[in-house]
Amino acid sequence: MKPPPFDYVAAGTVDQAVALLNGDADARVIAGGQSLMPLLNLRMASPELIVDIGRIEELDSISIDDDGLTIGAGVTQAAVATDPDVSAGWPLLAEAIGLIGHAQIRNRGTLCGSLAHNDPLAELPAVALALEASVTAISGDGRRTIPAGDLGIGPFMTSLDSGEFITAATFPSLPPATGCSIREFATRTGDFATAGVVTRLTLVDGAASNPRVVLFGLGPQAHRSSIVEAAVEGSTSPVLDDDVLARFTAELSPNDDAHASASARRQLAAELIAASVAEAWERAL
Ligand SMILES: Cc1cc2nc3c(=O)[nH]c(=O)nc-3n(C[C@H](O)[C@H](O)[C@H](O)COP(=O)(O)OP(=O)(O)OC[C@H]3O[C@@H](n4cnc5c(N)ncnc54)[C@H](O)[C@@H]3O)c2cc1C
Repeated sequence: MKPPPFDYVAAGTVDQAVALLNGDADARVIAGGQSLMPLLNLRMASPELIVDIGRIEELDSISIDDDGLTIGAGVTQAAVATDPDVSAGWPLLAEAIGLIGHAQIRNRGTLCGSLAHNDPLAELPAVALALEASVTAISGDGRRTIPAGDLGIGPFMTSLDSGEFITAATFPSLPPATGCSIREFATRTGDFATAGVVTRLTLVDGAASNPRVVLFGLGPQAHRSSIVEAAVEGSTSPVLDDDVLARFTAELSPNDDAHASASARRQLAAELIAASVAEAWERAL
């Protein structure tokens, strides 16, 4: 299918993008286009104006400072995954991006675009939650910082206001003895995950501290498991008790669809969460 007609402007600067988006209530940002173009072709979106932020030079940067790692909204997923400093300090990002679609998608799709799109099956919103990331957003009212936990408000929905867009995502540095893991199940390599789990934990004197255990593909959007996080906090074992897994799966309300039944997703979730916590633990040692 072909997209509906729209006007297109490639913004040269952030200020120009802000002005264009503020001037048209029916305008939409495009970055890598890997999610928006399919939506247009399926006529699930029909903006009057598309503002391309993918060619703005100041958004095409990866930097590291005291706040951590900052990835501009123009940086592709492939560029993030192949950056040696990212792999050294935030290896979970490179690992998660390796699970996204195919090379062609990662070569065009952006990390910030994935956070803005907030697909319930996407890896990066879950990673952002686990790593306690935040985004910088800009609009005619100025800039603001939004923690990853406040960005997603539902499937394909965020707390970004109309005319507001993400200029960068920031991932704080990880404390020593911190391990991370992403585990997912997809029917075929390159497919969206049927279900997945991201874990991050720090070992202090042999006990787990500040765990983040985030599920994706198992609800309306990526979300933390309070049951598993409470069980892992202070624990001295990487093995989750059967009782914890039973309470965890009972609390889930996964979809029943063509890819997997709700009961298969529950079983999958229990296996993925046990494996992910054990792997994060191993990596923290
Ligand atoms: C075949 C295929 C397989 C895929 N498989 C996976 C997968 O396994 N896992 C996965 O996570 N993703 C997958 N994707 C999606 C891919 O990761 C997209 O690149 C990503 O979701 C969106 O990034 P983008 O830069 O392409 O955004 P766009 O397509 O340009 O935009 C997507 C949406 O986000 C908005 N947006 C983009 N950037 C910003 C910004 N900076 N500020 C505010 N709003 C913004 C747009 O307005 C639009 O609504 C797949 C896509 C395809 C086509």
